[in-house]
Amino acid sequence: MPVLYGIGIGRRVALGPARRMAPPLPEPGAEPRTADAAAETAAVDAAVAAVAAELAARGERAGGEARAVLEAQALMAQDPALRDLVIQRIDAGATGERAVFEAFEEFRGMLAGLGGYLAERAADLADVAQRVIARLRGVPVPGVPESETPFILVADDLAPADTALLDLDRVLGVVTRDGGPTSHTAILARARSIPAIVGVADAGSIADGALVLLDAEMGEATVDPDAAAQERARERIAAEASRAAAPLAPGALADGTPVPLLANLGRPEEAEAALALGAEGVGLFRTEFLFLDAERAPSADEQAERYRALLAAFPGRKVVVRCLDAGADKPLAFLTPDPEENPALGLRGLRALRAHEDVLHDQLAALARAAEQTEADLWVMAPMVADVEETAWFARVAREHGLRTVGVMAEVPSLALQAEAVVAACDFVSIGTNDLTQYTLAADRLLGSVASYQDPWHPAVLSLIERLGAAGIAHGTPVGVCGEAAADPQLAVVLVGLGVTSLSMTPAALADVRAELAATTLEQARAAAAAALEATSARAARDAAATARATHAHPATT
Ligand code: PEP
Ligand code: MG
Repeated sequence: MPVLYGIGIGRRVALGPARRMAPPLPEPGAEPRTADAAAETAAVDAAVAAVAAELAARGERAGGEARAVLEAQALMAQDPALRDLVIQRIDAGATGERAVFEAFEEFRGMLAGLGGYLAERAADLADVAQRVIARLRGVPVPGVPESETPFILVADDLAPADTALLDLDRVLGVVTRDGGPTSHTAILARARSIPAIVGVADAGSIADGALVLLDAEMGEATVDPDAAAQERARERIAAEASRAAAPLAPGALADGTPVPLLANLGRPEEAEAALALGAEGVGLFRTEFLFLDAERAPSADEQAERYRALLAAFPGRKVVVRCLDAGADKPLAFLTPDPEENPALGLRGLRALRAHEDVLHDQLAALARAAEQTEADLWVMAPMVADVEETAWFARVAREHGLRTVGVMAEVPSLALQAEAVVAACDFVSIGTNDLTQYTLAADRLLGSVASYQDPWHPAVLSLIERLGAAGIAHGTPVGVCGEAAADPQLAVVLVGLGVTSLSMTPAALADVRAELAATTLEQARAAAAAALEATSARAARDAAATARATHAHPATT
């Protein structure tokens, strides 16, 4: 019963057979073909037709957005212009595999030049070419295995497109060798409620077909679990299912202390699903996600329209919109400077907006206009704020635009160290634990080799949060958390114990956090927080919080 360790995403348990992701195929060699041209062309035609049919069938099964993507891929694979490119190469002496490899690459370049939807899909052509070549070679298709029965996916890492297209009826959980807690795989797995363990160094030792018990809460994957462990897992899976079906009450502790539970969104279109999962409002709207592909800064009119669509979905509710957070992993062509040596430490967030004040003014004007035309309670905040001077500057500029509730994100330790002055200089603070952890531990959040440092349970991070929470309480300024830490139910309890007044997360995490808060009193949360703060490492903090919570007398049980 070997146990493998990594970083758990979510808290769910999954039990099922492992299916390994087939590795990418080596590039086909350039040696001349031996078969005749007609036979080679017929083989390619048959492989392309089979792959197109397969993609269309997968699209049919997946439905929604995935269906449109897969149907577009099937169409592209059968484009006559692409076939001509393949035939030209076969006629010139290339093997079918090599002809497919080169022709798909040339076609991809052509589509990319056309712009629009097809250009966006052109990147998928490399995947389609791999499928055709795998068929020609008679080897498994690289990428996520296709299976009629549910399985646990084991891979080195997943591309964002793999994660977005995972069939949730089939994929029970994911184990990857690479990745950290805020890598794309982790964020998407969390958003889609897929239990996952990333950064499992020994993932390669899990054999295809082996039974795996994945415990995301503990960050453990057990291979060939014994009967008792399997039974416990099945009980937990049943309990999780009933929790997910629990009524959508507003967030509150067991003693009635309200803790509003809000959603992290990147597009207005996500509002409906968030409301269906019981989001009480929006705690983080990442505006930069709307403009990642824009070459030029969007106009105030264009922006106002998107913000109106968002605010209109939340009449009478709080919606926290973050000004453009460009830089590092989210460069925006119109804000991000030429490549920097250390972009996470560069001209990003509010720094980039101050360097392009016209962009900030347009955004604030658009937000003010959208707020006037809708009924939502708009709060506006700045990203990556370093200190109290920047806080006061942003608050003044935003108020000059008529925005009433203005705040800052606490993502840089220097801001947390000035907490008392910061909470007095603005209307609210929202703690971005992803970046706050990255900067406190000096570990790039995108780098797998330092992923173990990216743990918001670290007592150093918790002590900065405590400082902000205490300052907020003393001054009557709300202090929320909108980083991934809020989505970890045990950590959510600790955050509340540290003085945090609201939690914002990917909507898929709301049910688990709601259930955990409802089972905890404020006294227990404070006891868990105090114990975690005194620990000397992230793992010790997690253990200490659990013990303190369990042993601290619950008033109802004494
Ligand atoms: C954070 O840093 O915690 C945060 C919420 O912002 P982002 O993840 O978009 O950087
Ligand atoms: Mg951030």
